Amino acid sequence: MTSNVSRFPARNLHGDAAEERDPRRLRSRAKEAADVAARHAAAVDRDARFPSEAFAAIREQKLLGLLIPAALGGEEASAADVAEVCYILGGACASTAMIFAMHQVKVACLARHSRGVAWQENLQRRIAAEQLLMASSTTEGSNGGNVRSSEAPVRTQGQHISLERATSCISYGEHADGIVTTARRNEAAAGSDQVLVAFLKDDYSLERTQSWDTLGMRGTCSVGFILRAKGVAEQVLADPYERIHSQTMVPFAHMFWSAAWAGLAAGAVQRARDFVRAAARASGGKMPPAAAHLTRARLSLETLRGAVHSAIESFERRSRDSEGLDDLNAQTALNLLKVEASELAVATVLSAMRACGLSGYRNDTEFTLGRHLRDVLSSPIMINNDRILANAEAAVLMSGAPAGLSF
Ligand SMILES: Cc1cc2nc3c(=O)[nH]c(=O)nc-3n(C[C@H](O)[C@H](O)[C@H](O)COP(=O)(O)OP(=O)(O)OC[C@H]3O[C@@H](n4cnc5c(N)ncnc54)[C@H](O)[C@@H]3O)c2cc1C
Repeated sequence: MTSNVSRFPARNLHGDAAEERDPRRLRSRAKEAADVAARHAAAVDRDARFPSEAFAAIREQKLLGLLIPAALGGEEASAADVAEVCYILGGACASTAMIFAMHQVKVACLARHSRGVAWQENLQRRIAAEQLLMASSTTEGSNGGNVRSSEAPVRTQGQHISLERATSCISYGEHADGIVTTARRNEAAAGSDQVLVAFLKDDYSLERTQSWDTLGMRGTCSVGFILRAKGVAEQVLADPYERIHSQTMVPFAHMFWSAAWAGLAAGAVQRARDFVRAAARASGGKMPPAAAHLTRARLSLETLRGAVHSAIESFERRSRDSEGLDDLNAQTALNLLKVEASELAVATVLSAMRACGLSGYRNDTEFTLGRHLRDVLSSPIMINNDRILANAEAAVLMSGAPAGLSF
């Protein structure tokens, strides 16, 4: 058996799957789901509830199995395809986009590291066929965003495994069909010797330990739980988490989260544009004084889109080479994408709100940007930018400044 990473296809050219994934067709499927998400976004935010209508539409459009290989019933979509869907959903409801992004990150881990194990392949078949939604547990106890260390070990008895883990939060944990979680390899292993394990809903129970009453991203329902799970040894992915983390978890999380935040920022820019157009029309074509902030918002949005696009293009190119993603510069660039994208997304939404003035600041106008602003403020703290920058210090010192413009 070999790792799936190097042979993970960029494109599938077979039959129906390829037709479904035609970029225009994929965009229109995403748009159908985004329209539903947009209609319910305010209620999802107000009630801090799971965006169930949006996910019914996402399932109807069969978007949850995009990354699954065609041989297992999926569409074998590229990272760029999925990022596009994250962006489109982000413009409608950021919680929906972030849940979708987190699910896809987990599916990428399963698809790229299943190594032909029957249980893992069957899970992928089910995700594609039944449109199962997978949640993610990487943070634990008082460990904050230090996802490269686990406390709870996998306990093994013959072919059976069990895990009891005090999670700090699992987004949409109560609404997911399964959870993909990190864990210490066994009782004797060091905290950094981790594995990734997939559990289906029948395998576990969740005991609530924390609520989710937050400023924004309220629809992600990222409640803290004690996760108690049982399963069989095949549910542990064969690749060590250290490899999954650098080859898949970090790159896909940073690409898909950034795409979702870019979509969120685009939604704010669209609203600010509508406001400035309405204000200009109402005053005989005279631009409102804050119109320059709309231009500024558009500028940072374009920089953000460029950063995400270029990171995905570079990732896909490097993925074609089995060693490509081990390159220090590639790893550093993908790490820093999250920092750059989150900061640009915050700057874009702030500029959009200043363009709208009081109409954007108020909660009760058609131009309100309150939800966008509260949602986007989660981006620098979702794995804290300070932590990422501190972790990148050594790599930045070791790699010289890029000699050319191409990545
Ligand atoms: C919307 C949302 C959804 C989420 N969903 C999930 C989920 O589904 N599953 C999951 O497991 N987790 C989830 N998380 C948690 C997330 O992954 C991080 O663990 C969490 O945001 C970090 O929490 P923290 O700020 O308390 O911890 P920390 O990362 O410890 O940060 C706390 C403070 O310490 C500072 N700090 C910590 N370490 C360093 C360092 N090395 N260098 C410099 N400064 C440092 C930071 O600047 C920060 O101010 C989610 C978070 C959000 C916002």
